[in-house]
Amino acid sequence: MDSRLPETSREKLEAWLRYYDDLGLGEFFTGRKAMGKRSVKTPAVPLQTAATATPAATSAATAAASSSTIQGAPARILPVVPATSLFEAIDRVEGDTLELVRENLGECTRCRLHKQRNKIVFGAGNPRAELVFVGEGPGHDEDVQGLPFVGRAGKLLTQMIEAMGLDREDVYICNVVKCRPPENRKPEDDEVATCSPYLYRQLDVIAPKAIVCLGGVAAQTLLKTKDPISRFRGDWFDFRNTKLLATYHPAYLLRNPNAKGEVWKDLQKVMSFLGLKPKKPLR
Ligand code: URA
Repeated sequence: MDSRLPETSREKLEAWLRYYDDLGLGEFFTGRKAMGKRSVKTPAVPLQTAATATPAATSAATAAASSSTIQGAPARILPVVPATSLFEAIDRVEGDTLELVRENLGECTRCRLHKQRNKIVFGAGNPRAELVFVGEGPGHDEDVQGLPFVGRAGKLLTQMIEAMGLDREDVYICNVVKCRPPENRKPEDDEVATCSPYLYRQLDVIAPKAIVCLGGVAAQTLLKTKDPISRFRGDWFDFRNTKLLATYHPAYLLRNPNAKGEVWKDLQKVMSFLGLKPKKPLR
């Protein structure tokens, strides 16, 4: 809350926000703060593209970026959110911690996914991780155990992490939605919109050096695009002051093992950014 507001206005505003929160009209966290400088987003132009672009490509990129669309633009440009939005301001919480995010989430009933869930899957790993993996949403095994990526796809993710020269405990792993979608369907837009503020808060608290989105849902959510992941996987983006790269979901790799080579290339980019030495290539 902006401490420059007169006390009475502040109280009134807080009361209104609490009222809307109670009505379920928004995620208004009690420790919210005004955003000032941090809220200005860096254009989501891949670093690699920006570094190597020709002047023509650069101006095309700028034009595409300023029109906030990637339709018809060079394949690697994602939309830019040029200024602070009220919702971005709201999803940052002063003095936030993972414990507080978990506490605010509570025994969540904010969307229909709570009806069939067994356990909320909040996230797991090193709260000070330099690297965070973001998946789509819990599956059956995760729903039973309350932990992310513990099923078949999770075992492959563990192999990916170890191939990078890390252990699972070194990184943080979480999902866009924290309850299992029935029959492992993709989360609906409104479910993502309801749950993702908690993901943003987790990422802001951890403040990793790099985020790897596993699959289209995670990448599309964080980059605010509907483009297929195949168009931009392996490219670097700026996301709220952190470098972000999307690669294929391990579940996709289980169905398409031939894509492992591409994922390994993506992970090697992350390793070189973080200064990691590989143990063994991903097989
Ligand atoms: N798939 C995901 O996206 N997340 C998990 O936690 C497990 C499987």
